[in-house]
Amino acid sequence: MPELPEVETVKRSLEPLVKGRIIEKTDVFYSGIIKKPGAEEFIQYLQGKEIQGIKRRGKYLLFSLGQGGLLVIHLRMTGQLVFSRKGEELIKHTHLVLHLSGGDELRFIDIRKFGLVYLIPTGKWEEAGGLSTLGPEPLEAEFSLSAFQKALQQKKVGVKAFLLDQRNIAGIGNIYADEILFTAGLRPQRNVNSIVNEEAGCLYDAIRAVLAEGIKYRGTSIRDYVDGKGERGRFQEKLKVYDRAGKSCVRCGTVLVKETVAGRGTVYCPSCQV
Ligand SMILES: [Zn+2]
Repeated sequence: MPELPEVETVKRSLEPLVKGRIIEKTDVFYSGIIKKPGAEEFIQYLQGKEIQGIKRRGKYLLFSLGQGGLLVIHLRMTGQLVFSRKGEELIKHTHLVLHLSGGDELRFIDIRKFGLVYLIPTGKWEEAGGLSTLGPEPLEAEFSLSAFQKALQQKKVGVKAFLLDQRNIAGIGNIYADEILFTAGLRPQRNVNSIVNEEAGCLYDAIRAVLAEGIKYRGTSIRDYVDGKGERGRFQEKLKVYDRAGKSCVRCGTVLVKETVAGRGTVYCPSCQV
């Protein structure tokens, strides 16, 4: 599933290609992908709108359309948002095509069909669904160590569950949660209210370092993820625990174990992570 580094990479790769382009026509091949409004109204609204820019919030992409309008896209499990040159053949599972001025296209492809696409005509995205309850952006100044320490002390959940909860911090999913906890030396099951200040500092630093590294390597392409140009990321080559169950810990050599934590397959080192 695309997480903050993947969605940020999609944003960065797409923005220079689509900024300033007009949406001339929209094809919806699977209307179930459009959550609101109805497909017909969706198509009508987009007609003639200029893409003024792209923002990322957590795992959401927000396309600014002028007059406060926003097109919101969440890739969920297997969604791909790919810029295509005019005349390129449509691949299977393409559910939505935005025809842009200049003749190129922005295509939404999703094998599992869990992706979310919707419009917020007012621009009040803070009030819309899951976007309204998102926690701070971990790479922005709004994510402070003191507020983070306080949030940990106030909860009684495992630290992995805490990291995955988008209301605590926006953008972390299963891959980066495991990598962050390994970097911080914390067990995924560890209760957050038992984390002392020094450990909280390590966790805070690990969140920022691992996500920044994920962006630097342009995301993790283990399964479907590609950027806005259809290119794979390289962070899978850097993974220390995720997808490495049964292999040796890169730090101490102990065999990495896999367990279900917070409802998700979780890999950790039983020696390094306490
Ligand atoms: Zn280890």
